[in-house]
Amino acid sequence: MSSEYKKAKDKAWKVFSRYIRLRDALKTTGDTEYARCYTCGRLFHIKEMDAGHWITRNRMPTFMNHRNVNAQCRGCNRFGDGRVVEYQAHLIEEYGSTVLEQLTDTAQKQVKLKAGDWNTLSEQYKQLVSMLENGEDWRGASEPWGMMLETKGVIDE
Ligand SMILES: [Zn+2]
Repeated sequence: MSSEYKKAKDKAWKVFSRYIRLRDALKTTGDTEYARCYTCGRLFHIKEMDAGHWITRNRMPTFMNHRNVNAQCRGCNRFGDGRVVEYQAHLIEEYGSTVLEQLTDTAQKQVKLKAGDWNTLSEQYKQLVSMLENGEDWRGASEPWGMMLETKGVIDE
């Protein structure tokens, strides 16, 4: 892995993580500072939260999937299994009973990204972050990660 690749990926993740925490703040409290943890429901400042995965971050096709990543408090995210039972229950409540299977299927696919792809994602998520920060309605905006996978021939269910 080249350092250029790693740098681009780390940067994209950083922007995406902010996007997820802002999205979940707006979803759970209506403002951009505090969010409820996806797995314990307690309120935290988003600067003190993680963007936590259900399927491990090592699986590339679901690494930045908008359903697979949610704002979690550090206690929950870093507690052994990331509170997987509560995580699954919340996913099913939010997206229906098929979501776990869909995400698991997507995670099995293969996708290879280049440094330039990560840079594209950084730019796209930056735009989403500023929409959220400016109070614009982002709910209709398409998910950059899903679109990126599609251009790579991976269909995210
Ligand atoms: Zn928590």
